[in-house]
Amino acid sequence: MIPGSFEYHRPGSVGETVELLTRLGEESRVIAGGHSLIPMMKLRLAVPEHLIDLQSVEGLKGISVEAGEITIGAMVTQHEIIGSEALAAACPILRETAEQIADPQVRYCGTLGGNVANGDPGNDMPALMQALDARYLLAGPNGTREVKARAFYEAAYFTALEEGEILTAVQFTAPPTGHGWAYQKQKRKIGDYATAAAAVILTLSGGVCASAAVALTNVADTPLLAEEAGAILTGSSLDADSIGRAAKAAAAIADPAEDGRGPAEFRRHVTAVMVSRAVAAAHSRAA
Ligand code: FAD
Repeated sequence: MIPGSFEYHRPGSVGETVELLTRLGEESRVIAGGHSLIPMMKLRLAVPEHLIDLQSVEGLKGISVEAGEITIGAMVTQHEIIGSEALAAACPILRETAEQIADPQVRYCGTLGGNVANGDPGNDMPALMQALDARYLLAGPNGTREVKARAFYEAAYFTALEEGEILTAVQFTAPPTGHGWAYQKQKRKIGDYATAAAAVILTLSGGVCASAAVALTNVADTPLLAEEAGAILTGSSLDADSIGRAAKAAAAIADPAEDGRGPAEFRRHVTAVMVSRAVAAAHSRAA
């Protein structure tokens, strides 16, 4: 339970960080809140020779909600997300999701950037970012670029991040006023990763569902956008039959591992239950 030895670096800018990552290559890793990386290092599942700490890097902090566009810096902690009244007003599902991550100690240190960049299928924010159709802002040796959350995840711990790149911020358009939202997570105990979880964001028009996005956590190697489920809900009155069919469609794309959280079939069943509950909760909150 003691990490291997490493050299510690503390750059002050994104440019300096990218330069270090590029120069030190594969044996280097950035560290944000450390609440995924340090446990991996203690287990020697990660043995970086160089740790590049993002704590002093300028420009990675801050939450901005302006004209319906939301930007959250990579180093914003889950605790800061929960505490932001501007975010809670514009996009309340962020607070609901962050509150279900681990426990307060983890949330004080764990960052949004670390949570989405890690590629851990158990992390809760990636599915939410897919439901919100968020964009990840990346900086690397060839400049900056954007990758949609829906295109970022390739396999467990494999993402679209290229060598020398870091995630600097997450950006998305706030869902319209009156939207419905819910993040439902089944876990064995407080602080656990999801057995299955679902993020739902929907809008209503004249009592009919005008749009719906459904995304799933920890039921495959990557977060999953349940497109068919969203399509079934859209145009429906969110009646029991439509919700049941959407839940079934979402569970059909789930491919969970059999682990301490239960057999695959059970986790697929829980996926359907989480989707049904999240749609019902989102419907009750929509205007
Ligand atoms: P770090 O641990 O510092 O980094 C994680 C990885 O991301 C590393 O590979 C690092 O190189 C990379 N990285 C970090 N920042 C960037 C960046 N800006 N650009 C590119 N790469 C970057 N999370 C959940 O979502 N749900 C849970 O239920 C949950 N339960 C937990 C329970 C416990 C007991 C613990 C210890 C953690 C739990 N977590 C959970 C994980 C926690 O939320 C982590 O803090 C978070 O996932 C990673 O954020 P971090 O800032 O700690 O990243």
